Amino acid sequence: MNILLFGAPGAGKGTQSEYLVKRLGFHQISTGDLFRAAIKNKTALGQKAQSYMDKGELVPDTVTVGMVDEVLAQLNGKNFILDGFPRNVAQAEALGKILKLRLLDIGKAIFLEVPSEALLSRLTGRRVCKSCGAVYHIASKPTRKPGVCDVCGGEVIQRNDDKEDVIATRLKTYAENTAPLKEYYKSKGKLVVVNGDRETEQVFSSIKSEIQL
Ligand SMILES: [Zn+2]
Repeated sequence: MNILLFGAPGAGKGTQSEYLVKRLGFHQISTGDLFRAAIKNKTALGQKAQSYMDKGELVPDTVTVGMVDEVLAQLNGKNFILDGFPRNVAQAEALGKILKLRLLDIGKAIFLEVPSEALLSRLTGRRVCKSCGAVYHIASKPTRKPGVCDVCGGEVIQRNDDKEDVIATRLKTYAENTAPLKEYYKSKGKLVVVNGDRETEQVFSSIKSEIQL
């Protein structure tokens, strides 16, 4: 079964995707990675994407969808998990079309649900080393010495992006864009809501039971 995993920033998509890849052999299609690879390898679509980014414009959906399609063409029947895409209904519809042309489908669209207060505390607790970029969390992964990086001894700070008002805005925007996406997959009978406000192993076992039918 192919699946789509979505949820707010901080909902734990990264961890769950990693489990799905390592433990169940899924191929992960992450649009962030696709962009980086396409740009680095200077593919036709990568150069197109770069030209928009150079102008400070959003990369059009057709370019993003094209990149996803190039990966789909190389999967040879391997189950995949989509992460970070689609972000809105227009992209979901475009994705539906290219999947159909390849006789593929999304079996389940799994939404990782985490209450916004919990997301806020997860995200505002993030700390980053100014020198080496190591990531910490004041509650779940603190530095051994306060404010000092375990790896390189550099200064560990809170990025402006991780400050509460910025995050609250990001979460609100996300929720507004995602509500229609949830409705879209619900209307297709594919939406599964998983409680993401638990230990990662518990969340994973819920996801596993949803996809191993
Ligand atoms: Zn460091």
